Amino acid sequence: MSRFLIERLRPLEEYVPGEQPRDKKYVKLNTNESPYPPSPSVIAAINAESAADLRLYSDPTGLRLKKALAGYYGVGAENVFVCNGSDEALSFFFAAFCGTDVPINCPEISYGFYPVFAQYYGTPYNAVPMEDDLSVDHRRFLGVKGHIMIANPNAPTGIALSPDEIKEILESDPDRLVCVDEAYVDFGAQTALPLLADHPNLVVVRTYSKSRSMAGARLGFAFAAPEIIADLEKIKYSTNPYNVNRLTQSAGEAALLDGEYYRENCRAIIRDREFTVSELKKLGGVLTPSTANFIFVRFPGKDGGEIYHALKERGVLVRHFGLERIKDYLRITIGTREECAVLIAELKNILGGKNE
Ligand code: PMP
Repeated sequence: MSRFLIERLRPLEEYVPGEQPRDKKYVKLNTNESPYPPSPSVIAAINAESAADLRLYSDPTGLRLKKALAGYYGVGAENVFVCNGSDEALSFFFAAFCGTDVPINCPEISYGFYPVFAQYYGTPYNAVPMEDDLSVDHRRFLGVKGHIMIANPNAPTGIALSPDEIKEILESDPDRLVCVDEAYVDFGAQTALPLLADHPNLVVVRTYSKSRSMAGARLGFAFAAPEIIADLEKIKYSTNPYNVNRLTQSAGEAALLDGEYYRENCRAIIRDREFTVSELKKLGGVLTPSTANFIFVRFPGKDGGEIYHALKERGVLVRHFGLERIKDYLRITIGTREECAVLIAELKNILGGKNE
């Protein structure tokens, strides 16, 4: 930390992204990326882009991409915001709507970036308690003061609320915003998007990083009432007007031409998730019921951190969180069937005490 860093930011504990190691080739199951490449139309669109055109700025309105998303999801272009990864939509949500006097309410254990944004923007953060089985009881959100941000399915548990439960939260107070972060919704949960027409206090945040295999392109989007979108645009034009680059805008539009390709990838990931869950149960694993592209597992009597290190030594990278309540859990991204098989084989070795 330099002596120039402003006072307000000195205590900030920044978000720590999952490792992107370069030391050796891992079976990489730690950051919820897709194991499959982007679709043929995306690759064609990127190849057709002219490097020479990179001298030109990207379209700051992102209008073609917005229209394509609006058509795909059955909303108006004025209901769509596009951004540099969904993290940016979440950040802008805080910037626009959560002041130092408007708290944000999130499940006690959720995406680790939420409390970081709250601290960065000086927003009071209310961690809403979760149940013993790590599920979220939506009724705990009905009386809270301030806005709400919920990952649905939640991370790192993968447990989802139903649209009816989200609806009850929305209707409990129309004067508060409910931001539903649907980064993982395409792997088996239900979207809150149909609620948008009747609930102008809903913001739905989505990403191309998971089900559309484009984590490295950094493309996120959000759906909300036009005046909410206008507020997010106001933040964008006050900080970074060209937030989505040219290549990414083209790729994002092209991906929407290949809906079936991505749906098939999601079905494969769901099949491999169910396979992995049943294999891990045979090894004594206890899991939360995940509808995401990752699972959350612990092995009673075993130390989560030790298993994480043992897997890493064997070339399998998963995610371990230091938080006390979940310190014995591992969050494991569902890779290809072969990658899942390697994970299971290595876990067998580790838990059986072989090859130590
Ligand atoms: N929300 C959740 C719940 C996530 O796990 C992630 C991925 N780290 C994001 C949002 C952000 O994804 P991206 O910025 O890549 O769209």
